[in-house]
Amino acid sequence: MSPNADKEKLPQLLLLGGGHSHVEVLRRFGLQPPAARVTVVSRELWAPYSGMLPGLIAGTHRFAQAHIELPALARFAGARLVHAEVTGLDPHAGRVRLRDGRQLRYDLLSLNLGATPDLSTPGAAAHALPVKPIDRFFAHWQSLLQRLQGAPAGLRLAVVGGGAAGVELLLAARQRLRRELPGRRVAWTLFSRARRLLPGHGRRAGSILAGILRKRGVRLRLGCAVHSVEAGRLLDQTGCWHAFDALLWVTGAVPAGWLRRTGLALDPKGFIEVDTELRSTSHPAVFAAGDVATLRGAPRPRAGVFAVRMGGPLAENLRAVIAGTALRPYRQQRRFLSLLGTADGQALASWGGWSYRSRGLARLKAWIDRRFIQRYAELPSSVRSRQDS
Ligand SMILES: Cc1cc2nc3c(=O)[nH]c(=O)nc-3n(C[C@H](O)[C@H](O)[C@H](O)COP(=O)(O)OP(=O)(O)OC[C@H]3O[C@@H](n4cnc5c(N)ncnc54)[C@H](O)[C@@H]3O)c2cc1C
Repeated sequence: MSPNADKEKLPQLLLLGGGHSHVEVLRRFGLQPPAARVTVVSRELWAPYSGMLPGLIAGTHRFAQAHIELPALARFAGARLVHAEVTGLDPHAGRVRLRDGRQLRYDLLSLNLGATPDLSTPGAAAHALPVKPIDRFFAHWQSLLQRLQGAPAGLRLAVVGGGAAGVELLLAARQRLRRELPGRRVAWTLFSRARRLLPGHGRRAGSILAGILRKRGVRLRLGCAVHSVEAGRLLDQTGCWHAFDALLWVTGAVPAGWLRRTGLALDPKGFIEVDTELRSTSHPAVFAAGDVATLRGAPRPRAGVFAVRMGGPLAENLRAVIAGTALRPYRQQRRFLSLLGTADGQALASWGGWSYRSRGLARLKAWIDRRFIQRYAELPSSVRSRQDS
């Protein structure tokens, strides 16, 4: 029998999305191939790394420094890469639907599709610029920079969302505009439904950041939800209108709407419910990790650090299912260290209720971020040559 016929007999493992967990799955499969045919489906060929997004927006990082090249990683893993958008899933038939009409069959499935900002506020989808998907945000951000060059003297920019991503995005965008439009007056306003910044962190982190933003002239509208958005203006919950030239939307994450039609067990917000083995609580052939997944009984903020940490356990559990061996639980830390750049050569660390800001922390963050990207850019050459031969 030909080697290809043998390969056809192997189970089909389908990885949906090239997020922070699946890049680690692919790396580990490159180092130690599983007895499966692996296919990864991604809407993007370059996977953005969340830790470097603010630097990309600020213009301090180049595109390739903040992204992982999926075709090279897939080749390293011996996986087929399908460049397409997933639009549906039928777990009973073991099939996934793509936007271009194709269908892919699987024996074992893993989802690492991330989440997008909640655009359910009336008018937000039409008039705001959501921070995700990152590739679309980045393209719009570039054209916005050009549009603002030719705009009249005073500019009004608004950000909706007072979590870590909203604050980092505002600081990075402000840094970029100061460089691109020197001398231009730009009025920044940040709106947040929560009464304090970074509600998922200790109080001190939020108050340090509020102090930094106020010092840089940012108007904070805390405890002030946006009621609706129209072209060039938004209405807040107190009935006040606020005019803007650009509106950046960084509110709490929501999952893809089509997940509700799959029959998978979901949490009340529509994220896939998984157990400690990262396995769907309703469908044993389905796994999920990162922002798209909610660990049953252990809710946590949606942050890239968790998606990164789930990568290793996810890879080993997928391998165990294929080999028919025992699965291991993923142990989630209750506290996690967040490092937020403050766009002035410093970074703020937040760990539980503790918080501190310094230049040394910015160097530590840069080192962690660089090391992460290098892990996927500098793949071991011995394995590379095995793939090439
Ligand atoms: C400005 C900003 C800064 C942030 N900074 C940090 C930080 O410093 N630290 C931190 O921990 N978190 C940070 N976050 C949060 C972080 O971005 C997310 O928690 C993280 O990206 C989640 O990782 P993931 O692997 O689950 O999903 P993602 O990183 O979103 O990856 C999902 C991938 O799946 C692909 N995909 C999605 N849908 C489809 C589809 N239908 N078909 C095919 N492919 C699809 C996408 O193209 C994407 O590449 C930040 C977020 C923002 C917006």
